[in-house]
Amino acid sequence: MKKIRRIKPGQRKRERREASKKLEAQAAAFLDHDMECCVCGAEFERTQTTVQEWMVVASEDHKPRLTCPSCWKLIEKEVENRNV
Ligand SMILES: [Zn+2]
Repeated sequence: MKKIRRIKPGQRKRERREASKKLEAQAAAFLDHDMECCVCGAEFERTQTTVQEWMVVASEDHKPRLTCPSCWKLIEKEVENRNV
């Protein structure tokens, strides 16, 4: 039986291209600002792991801020506490 193509030809490619564009923008954000945690000042070492674990948050002036995983946990807790 022939499989029904639900995806239009070219759509997958376009999606992939958009995804990689997004990744590129994220990478650019990483390169574009201070390479340290905006909370504790820990130095950001660019590795596959840190790129995934560190959070990039756009601040009001649209400058991305880096937050290390441990500070991010504190921030999350703080937000939770405020919501209670
Ligand atoms: Zn930190």
